[in-house]
Amino acid sequence: MATVSARNPADRLTEEQVLLRDTVRQLATERIAPRAAEIDRTATFPEDIRQLLAEQDILGLPFPVEHGGVGGDLLTVCIAIEEIARACATSSLILIVQELGSLPLLLAGTPAQQTRFFPRLASGTALAAFGLTEPEAGSDAGALRTRAVRDGDTYVLDGTKRFITNGSVAGLITVFAVTDPDGPKHRRLSCFAVEVPTEGFRVERLEHKLGIRGSPTAELAFEGVRVPAANLIGAEGDGFSIAMATLDRSRPGVAAQAIGIAQGALDTAVAYARNRRQFGQRIGDFQMVAAMLADMDSQVEAARQLLYTACLEIEAGGPEVARWSAMCKLIAGDTAMRVTTDAVQVLGGYGYIDEFPVERMMRDAKITQIYEGTQQVQRLVVARALLGRPGS
Ligand SMILES: Cc1cc2nc3c(=O)[nH]c(=O)nc-3n(C[C@H](O)[C@H](O)[C@H](O)COP(=O)(O)OP(=O)(O)OC[C@H]3O[C@@H](n4cnc5c(N)ncnc54)[C@H](O)[C@@H]3O)c2cc1C
Repeated sequence: MATVSARNPADRLTEEQVLLRDTVRQLATERIAPRAAEIDRTATFPEDIRQLLAEQDILGLPFPVEHGGVGGDLLTVCIAIEEIARACATSSLILIVQELGSLPLLLAGTPAQQTRFFPRLASGTALAAFGLTEPEAGSDAGALRTRAVRDGDTYVLDGTKRFITNGSVAGLITVFAVTDPDGPKHRRLSCFAVEVPTEGFRVERLEHKLGIRGSPTAELAFEGVRVPAANLIGAEGDGFSIAMATLDRSRPGVAAQAIGIAQGALDTAVAYARNRRQFGQRIGDFQMVAAMLADMDSQVEAARQLLYTACLEIEAGGPEVARWSAMCKLIAGDTAMRVTTDAVQVLGGYGYIDEFPVERMMRDAKITQIYEGTQQVQRLVVARALLGRPGS
């Protein structure tokens, strides 16, 4: 009889990825987890964690080696995000948005633009932000109104961006604006690398939020902001397709964040169920609690395996990139919400108070169902891949 050798689950990862995962896990456990509750309570951007991630070259992961980065592929970046999010979702967002804000340049920037901007982003000296959403344009990103008008060697930007993560701490914002108001919806927009601070740029306000409370979510005003024409990313009219291509590649990062949050909540719930005793026994020995933990573990692992496959499919660049990207975020976001809610339940009253991290994790999980496209939008993307656009 042929022997079937037991397969090490880590085999899906390269040796370097396993090493990175273990290193980031240790860093997150020792240096980030002890800060997480305070970051949440004070709702302040964790500058110390930004520096730590920069020093450890973690912020350099998404950038090419020739520009001072580490040259990590999508799965490598996602592994790092998951491990940070397991300790602190806010901190994981620093890496997520460093990649998100830089993706327009990674995907469509010229070599000259990459040479100009990447070294300081890869070293973490400057943070990036992604400026798509506006008060009247959320899911319907093609409807945004910020204008960019060409004037000689510059474009002049006027408009408002809302809910921009790291908008108040970034040095470079990739901003989407209308260059052809009468053009077809998918050709109206262009994308610009805007270096801030600059004249006419203001942070109008920061939002108070349910979760990821240390991550600044900014409303940004652009009033006559002059951007060199050399900072146009791609060609005029490419903005919408650059935004969509960016989201196809960045949604796995949100999925990784969701999986990290869920794993962190599961770890806490298991530890608690081993120790807490009621009716003379460990609560983990009650079948109803044990089943809950088994479901949580299975769901987290399923979401993780889908994410790994999605990363490989996206990296391979097949025709179904949008579907894989949307599916992994959809499943991971819903998993995070379910698992963190169940973790609170396993801890009973202690789950509901901030002595334990699961209530924070439950609040943090919710955003993964909303940003970079809501779960409804992910379903639209998957359904379109199956059925084509409505009426087609
Ligand atoms: C904390 C935070 C950080 C963010 N960071 C960034 C950032 O860095 N950069 C950036 O550009 N944006 C960012 N966003 C914006 C985020 O991506 C949007 O909030 C999100 O895409 C939803 O847009 P909206 O809030 O306008 O909701 P809406 O689009 O108004 O949606 C409201 C509801 O209607 C549903 N809906 C809308 N259209 C459809 C449809 N066609 N079919 C079915 N249901 C639909 C939605 O699913 C949702 O349930 C952030 C948001 C938050 C809250």
